[in-house]
Amino acid sequence: MFTNESDFENRIVAPEFTPSDHDIETSLRPKCLEEYIGQEKAKENLSIYIEAAKTRGESLDHVLLHGPPGLGKTTLSNIIAAEMGVNIRITSGPAIEKQGDLAALLTNLNEGDVLFIDEIHRLSRNVEEILYPAMEDFSVDIIIGKGPSARSIRLDLPHFTLIGATTRSGQLTAPLRDRFGVILRLELYTPEELAAIVTRSAGILGIEIDEEGALEIASRSRGTPRIANRLLKRVRDVAQVMYEGKINLTVAQDALSRFEIDELGLDDFDRRLMHTMIRHYGGGPVGLETLAASLGEEAVTIEDVCEPYLMQLGFLARTPKGRVLTPTAYEHLGLTPPQKANPQQQLDL
Ligand code: ADP
Repeated sequence: MFTNESDFENRIVAPEFTPSDHDIETSLRPKCLEEYIGQEKAKENLSIYIEAAKTRGESLDHVLLHGPPGLGKTTLSNIIAAEMGVNIRITSGPAIEKQGDLAALLTNLNEGDVLFIDEIHRLSRNVEEILYPAMEDFSVDIIIGKGPSARSIRLDLPHFTLIGATTRSGQLTAPLRDRFGVILRLELYTPEELAAIVTRSAGILGIEIDEEGALEIASRSRGTPRIANRLLKRVRDVAQVMYEGKINLTVAQDALSRFEIDELGLDDFDRRLMHTMIRHYGGGPVGLETLAASLGEEAVTIEDVCEPYLMQLGFLARTPKGRVLTPTAYEHLGLTPPQKANPQQQLDL
């Protein structure tokens, strides 16, 4: 059970970046679209836009990437810059505190460059206002001086591409969202796609793994490449210490059950969430805020981090009246669904 916030953040199956991911993430990042596994729809659209922009000799339209953490938004942004043959400057919404910070970043860009803003929904409104003319007219208004003698001068910017990444596209203001020419949603990966990612990563890290071992890690990675790579690293440790270094089905199963990650990739927190819904709210419907308070967790974390995967598994549904557990979730926990848990009846609520 997670008794405090840092325990929750240390979940092996947390999709967000943690400092321990640092050593492998850079080496495992695919460098071109061809190496980027899955997300076929987004990739196909992007390669058309990139090709068209290159043919016209223009910069690429501004791109908004949205989807849960760990699905490859930063990776894809680096690839877009590489495919366009331009430099990328990386920053994030919370890191830009003042209008001047953003103005400085913008005026230092070269023609065609990519400016990547992670967590763009967290930009302050004040800073966001600088982005509107920058994105639309490639210009920025800077205030010089203070008080009555202050005046505004307009600087022209190079034609750059803004790539914004967000886990919460619903929180973007309409004027900002409207200024993106390309909006792409990244989806959770299938176990087969994740198995291909695990096999590729194992190759780069020099880990011996067979097909079944890779698929086992993939199936427990909650549709998320970052988790797949992290699990691979942890399973390697067990393989080296307890087995002869090679990962197969048995080794992967043994290692992952030691970390209390079940065959679907659910951990203690997911189970606690489902049990709380059953025990205290009869399986739902229960409001997100109420559920979050019962678990001592923030609503946004539950919404962004736990729910997408539980929904993909068909364990949880969002209804206008609140969250509802489905009979499949009860069965997974070895429980009998209550009579009212007729899925259609619940989903119609
Ligand atoms: P996000 O920015 O969405 O949080 P990242 O781009 O940082 O996610 O991706 C996390 C890690 O997952 C990267 O280091 C990369 O190794 C891996 N990864 C993500 N997407 C893919 C992919 N499509 N193919 C292979 N590896 C991927």
